[in-house]
Amino acid sequence: MSDRYGEFVQSPLGKKVAKNLGLPLPTKLDRFEPGEKVVRGSVLFGSASGDDSRLSDAIAQVLNSLHADVYVAGDDAHKDVLSGAGVEAKDSEGHTEKYKVLVFDASNIAHAPDLKEMYDFFHPVARQVEKSGRVIIIGRPPEECDRIGKTLSQRALEGFVKSVGKEFKNGITAQLIYVSEGEEANLDSTLRFFMSARSAYVSGQVVRVGAGSVVDVDWSKPLAGKTVLVTGASRGIGESMSRVLARDGAHVICLDVPQQQADLQKVAGEIGGSTLALDITADDAGEKIAEAAAKRNGLDAIIHNAGITRDKTLAKMDDKQWDMVININLQSIAMINDYLFDNDVLNENARIVCVSSISGIAGNLGQTNYATSKAGVIGLVQATAKKLKAEGRGITINAVAPGFIETQMTAAIPLTIREAGRRMNSMSQGGLPIDVAETTAWLAAPASGGVNGNIVRVCGQSLLGA
Ligand code: NAP
Repeated sequence: MSDRYGEFVQSPLGKKVAKNLGLPLPTKLDRFEPGEKVVRGSVLFGSASGDDSRLSDAIAQVLNSLHADVYVAGDDAHKDVLSGAGVEAKDSEGHTEKYKVLVFDASNIAHAPDLKEMYDFFHPVARQVEKSGRVIIIGRPPEECDRIGKTLSQRALEGFVKSVGKEFKNGITAQLIYVSEGEEANLDSTLRFFMSARSAYVSGQVVRVGAGSVVDVDWSKPLAGKTVLVTGASRGIGESMSRVLARDGAHVICLDVPQQQADLQKVAGEIGGSTLALDITADDAGEKIAEAAAKRNGLDAIIHNAGITRDKTLAKMDDKQWDMVININLQSIAMINDYLFDNDVLNENARIVCVSSISGIAGNLGQTNYATSKAGVIGLVQATAKKLKAEGRGITINAVAPGFIETQMTAAIPLTIREAGRRMNSMSQGGLPIDVAETTAWLAAPASGGVNGNIVRVCGQSLLGA
């Protein structure tokens, strides 16, 4: 589905018309291209003053491994942290060019007045961020802080980040990553994702990184040797997920209903994957998935993407429309997961990624069935994450919650509602299937072991449910 308005405003005339009429001005977002650097520009690093340098050390390690062009703001202590990790950072004073990434370690902020250090870091460079730039703040989970001053100041970071996401425009995203004490080594895959063009349509998110196994990764093929199953893989978001996961090195078992066999075979053929024609609501769906997985030594990840809408206001909705949506979008996931857990189909450190929706967070007119199912997916992820953490096999579960993504599903929405959905976010545009796919690939990666129980919206910071 093409966004004609979005294309028009890329032209000089379109830009002028949109500016004069006060219309939204979507920026063409940078998206990841294989072989390109993770950060396509320079990074400005800063940190709140304090004794704990564990998170700054972890950030410095990542910057070193990226061979990024790094500038440092503030005193020499920050420079020392970076040089300790092998990063030769330049002083930011007098630097007038734009940065691609601003990254700030806020973990030492422990009282409300200390929040001024965050202001002092970002204020002078607020107009110095490139298009599709990244603003990232890293702190400690407020619920794990033992003093009120620390809890309130770490929680305060969220308001700052979400406001920056709404203010900066130009495709610039803003995120907050909370890392549990002692789990700094797990920051790597999450920080890389949010610094890169892979997170083009993800903004205003708060992600928690906790305990998990740390693994060595070949970052050019982070899923090499892994087997991943994607449901609803014949088109739309599921097709894009399959392609991205295969690009990252996985063997993908592409699953879709038998009626989509031809398209499914085309996708699987093009990515060197295999197919499984199956209705996920079938009584033996778990068994069939287990059989397919057994041929490849078990599953390293399953992506529960298949889903449907049957929109009607509640008064006009018949019980078939209710039942079908709950059954496909929610009950089938619960049933399949139960089977996979009971029969040890998932390998150690396996990843489960479910697809929710911002409708499940905000609710939506005409979608009582759909929003119920997608809110249920969030409940399923939260409950399962606790169980998996207690089991200690390194398996994680997370959800992506897409906003308005350009697919057949959204093409079917009436024009005026479609146009409103497309523009009501900080990016003033719809996302692409690849944006959900890239987010899924980050959550599905072996290196993301510390990310468990998160619901990550891929919605350009949609106003709905914000
Ligand atoms: P899509 O283009 O309709 O693709 C979904 C695929 O899942 C289709 O091939 C569909 O086959 C298949 N499927 C449906 N029921 C199935 C079943 N019982 N067993 C196996 N496969 C089944 O949808 P999409 O836009 O890519 O959406 C993918 C996921 O993202 C869904 O969970 C959706 O709710 C979620 N999402 C999408 C958006 C968006 O803006 N597009 C926003 C939020 C969330 P059929 O041909 O039979 O339908």
